[in-house]
Amino acid sequence: MIRFQNVRKVYGTGEQALAALDDVTLHVPEGEIFGVLGQSGAGKSTLIRCVNLLERPTSGSVVVNGQEMTSLSPPELRKARQQIGIIFQHFNLLRSRTVAENIAFPLEVVGQPKAQRDTRVKELLSLVGLSDKINAYPSQLSGGQKQRVGIARALACEPKVLLSDEATSALDPQTTRSILDLLRDLNRRLKLTVLLITHEMTVVKHICDRVAVLRAGRVVEQGLVDELIVRP
Ligand code: ADP
Ligand code: ADP
Repeated sequence: MIRFQNVRKVYGTGEQALAALDDVTLHVPEGEIFGVLGQSGAGKSTLIRCVNLLERPTSGSVVVNGQEMTSLSPPELRKARQQIGIIFQHFNLLRSRTVAENIAFPLEVVGQPKAQRDTRVKELLSLVGLSDKINAYPSQLSGGQKQRVGIARALACEPKVLLSDEATSALDPQTTRSILDLLRDLNRRLKLTVLLITHEMTVVKHICDRVAVLRAGRVVEQGLVDELIVRP
C-alpha cells in the first residue's frame, strides 16, 4: 500500500518557489487500482516521482509497503525501489537490446545469474502475452507490444506496487483498452497494488477502484470511483 500524509513539494526558492504538491494526503489500499486524475501541470508526475523518491518531498510522509520512504538510507532506498515497478508513457525501452534483454535489465542490475534471468524472462513474457516476440527488437513492435514489454520489465523483480505514468497516453483507444485490461488482470492475479496517473477520465472509469482528483497541487476529491463518477 501507499500512504501520503501532508506531502508538500516545492520547486525553486524565494519568488520563484512553486508548490507542485500542496498538503497532499492519500491512501492507496493494498491490492487496489488507484487513479490520480488531473490536467497538465496539476502535479501528477511530481506525485508519482515522490512515491519512489525520484523527487524528495519538501515535507510530509510517504509510506510504501510499510516503510517510511523519506527516512531510508541510500542502500535501503535502492532495495525499497526494487519493490516498486514503474511503466512510462513512452515505454523507455533500450533500442539496442532485444525484448528479452530489456526485460532482463533490472534483474542484471540486482545481480541475478543468467540461467535464472532466462527462466524469469520467459515467465514474464507469458504473463503479458508476448512469448513469440522474445528475440524481437523494440523497433519491430507495435505501441501496445512495447508497453507489454515495459510492464514485463517493471514486474521483473516481483514488486508489490506498480506505478503507471500516463502508460496509455501514447496508444490508440483499442490498444489502450487491451493494456488496461492487462493491468486489471495482473492486479487480480498478482495482488498487485497499482497507482496510475492520467489526464483521461475514461482510463479511471475503465479500471480504477478509487480516484483522487488533483488540481494545482491539491487533492480536491478522493474516493471510490463508483461513488464519485457517474457511469453511463
Ligand atoms: P503534471 O504531471 O500533472 O503535468 P507536474 O508534476 O509535471 O504536473 O508539474 C507540476 C508543476 O510543477 C508545474 O507547474 C510544473 O511546471 C512544475 N515543475 C515540475 N517539475 C519541475 C522542476 N523539476 N522544477 C521546477 N518546476 C517543476
Ligand atoms: P536511465 O538512466 O535512462 O533511467 P537505466 O540504465 O537506469 O536508464 O535504466 C534503463 C531502463 O530500465 C529504464 O527505462 C528504467 O526504467 C528500467 N529499469 C531500471 N531498473 C528497473 C527496475 N528495478 N524495475 C523496472 N525497470 C527498471
